[in-house]
Amino acid sequence: VSVVNRIAAGEIIIGPSNALKEILENSIDAKSTSIEVLVKEGGLKQLQITDNGNGIEKDDLPILCERFTTSKLEKFEDLDSIATYGFRGEALASISHISHLTVTTKTNKSPCAWKCFYSDGKLIPMKPKTSSEPKAVAGKNGTQILVEDLFYNVPSRLRALRSASEEFHKILEVVGKYAIHTGHVGFSCKKFGESYNSLTTRSDLPIKERIRAVYGSAIANELVEIQVLPNEDIGLVQCFAQITNPNYGQKKTTEVFFINNRLVSCDPLKRALNQLYSVFLPKGNKPFLYLALEINAKNVDVNVHPTKREVRFLFEDEIIEYIVSIVQEKLTSLDS
Ligand code: ADP
Ligand code: MG
Repeated sequence: VSVVNRIAAGEIIIGPSNALKEILENSIDAKSTSIEVLVKEGGLKQLQITDNGNGIEKDDLPILCERFTTSKLEKFEDLDSIATYGFRGEALASISHISHLTVTTKTNKSPCAWKCFYSDGKLIPMKPKTSSEPKAVAGKNGTQILVEDLFYNVPSRLRALRSASEEFHKILEVVGKYAIHTGHVGFSCKKFGESYNSLTTRSDLPIKERIRAVYGSAIANELVEIQVLPNEDIGLVQCFAQITNPNYGQKKTTEVFFINNRLVSCDPLKRALNQLYSVFLPKGNKPFLYLALEINAKNVDVNVHPTKREVRFLFEDEIIEYIVSIVQEKLTSLDS
């Protein structure tokens, strides 16, 4: 059974940056306003996420890493309109099957923090022959998730992963994209043993300043906002975008796409926009684009893939066409 669980877990958690994405989403769901990420060896040795959110009740800790343990689904109909990121209760369970997982958490009602070790979905004793109860420790409100030795029991996956520096780069990319989109949260990310942060944002910075903090002034100074009106007929509730001026050129396109607050890839939209850039941008110039869509939750299917990266939604063609036409209008007006 544990081998099967490990294989299933490896399908959800592909690398350190996937694990991080799941943990960040949990922290955001828990109403945090500050999230700190600490990384050792590209997250393979250690990945530590500290938030100041709601925390987890002591009574919930023994089953925290059992599959399908989620506090986010009240009734089955909720699947139609999922407001929070998580809802399947698979992330922590998966991580516990393929790493050494330590959770330290405190709600504001609890007099102390509770610390737990997990392995293969279960709460385990901290030392042999001690009890597998949460241990009382000092700590602040919020949750700290420590993932150590990711894939220690999946050697093939370890071999397939690239270098620690590439994994760190992917981690920074995930933190950076969430930092841009989730303005009410301040983020930081640093490597273990280094005194400076590789990335920091304060909470409640304006969008351009968040993009500046993550991608630098060269991009931030060239940003133009794109106004997209909602369109109820096709289930487009809201759309917000920032794109660099066509005269700004970078060699590679940077796209930050969020749909219903999830960092996703939407290949058909990407393709359509790329086609547009190739017509409207001077040769060799590639844009930075931040696009946040809110689509009627009833129309979205986020269950296509366990990693929840690729999203399907109703009126996909119509919505893509609509967005492309507005981006095109903007690029035309900036061109003249
Ligand atoms: P899901 O997010 O799908 O519910 P997870 O495995 O990601 O499943 O998390 C399981 C549960 O653990 C969550 O539903 C939540 O109750 C709790 N949890 C996880 N991380 C945090 C956190 N940082 N703060 C508060 N609660 C958390
Ligand atoms: Mg989750």
